[in-house]
Amino acid sequence: MKFCRFSTDDRTSYGVIEGGVIHEIDKNPFCGNPTDDIKKAGKWTLEDVRLLAPVVPSKIVAIGLNYKAHAAEFKKALPEEPMLFMKPSTAVIGPNDEIIYPTHMSHRVDYEGELAVVIGTTAKDVPVINAPEHILGYTCFNDVTARDLQGKDIQYTRAKGFDTFACVGPCIETDIDPRNVRIETFLNSEKKQDSSTADMIFDVFELVSFVSHVMTLLPGDIIATGTPSGVGKMRPGDRVEVRIEGIGSLVNTVTEAKVFKKIWTKGG
Ligand code: MG
Repeated sequence: MKFCRFSTDDRTSYGVIEGGVIHEIDKNPFCGNPTDDIKKAGKWTLEDVRLLAPVVPSKIVAIGLNYKAHAAEFKKALPEEPMLFMKPSTAVIGPNDEIIYPTHMSHRVDYEGELAVVIGTTAKDVPVINAPEHILGYTCFNDVTARDLQGKDIQYTRAKGFDTFACVGPCIETDIDPRNVRIETFLNSEKKQDSSTADMIFDVFELVSFVSHVMTLLPGDIIATGTPSGVGKMRPGDRVEVRIEGIGSLVNTVTEAKVFKKIWTKGG
C-alpha cells in the first residue's frame, strides 16, 4: 500500500495511491493499524493535486556511515554501533519542492540518497525482533548536506539542518522488504549512486531498535538509514532524483538562496 499526503485548492489530506489514482482516506495513517478499515472518501488523479511530504515528523534521526562501500569510499572503519545525528523537522520538503542552496554560508552542498523508515506506532526500548510492528513503511529521502560545514563544525547540526535539507517522498510504501531493495540517485539524469540496502552495516530493524533504546520514537518520526557510496555535490539549477525499488522517485530541484541583506554577522 502506498500512502501519500496531498493538497488541493481547499485542503490537505492523506490518501492511498492505486494505479495512478489517489483515493483520499478519512483518517491519517498513523492512528492504529491503517491497513485495516480504511474508508476511501474521494478520488483524485495525480495531476489534480500537489503531492506533499507524506509525513510530518516530530523528529528525523539520521544514521552516518551505514553502507560498507560508503565507509570504504571515505576510508573509514566500519562502525561498531550506529552513529546518530538529527535533522530538524523544519528541514522537510516534499516531492518537486526546491532545495535552497545556502550560498551565504556554504559552497559545497551534497545529495545523499537514502531509504527512510517511517514509524507507525510509538517505539521505546524495542527488541530487534519486534521492530517491524512499529514501522508504518518506507520512503525515499535526500539527506542534503553542506559538506564544507560538516568538516568545519564538530556537530552536524548546521551542515544537515538548513531549511529544505530533508527531502521526503513521494509516498510511504508499506509492503517492501527493506533489507534488499535497489537504491539509486540521479543528478540531472546521470546516475551517481546505485546500491542495495543489502549493503547496509545495520539493517533497518536493528536501527529502529537501537534508536528506540536512546529516545522514544513517535508515530510519523523518520529514521534516515544512511547513504551508499557515490555522494557528490549539487549546484543551483540541478535536478536530483532518489529512486528506490518498490517505492518510486523523489525529485527535487536546487535553487540559490535569495538572502540579499540577510547575511549573518556577529553583532549585526
Ligand atoms: Mg546521510
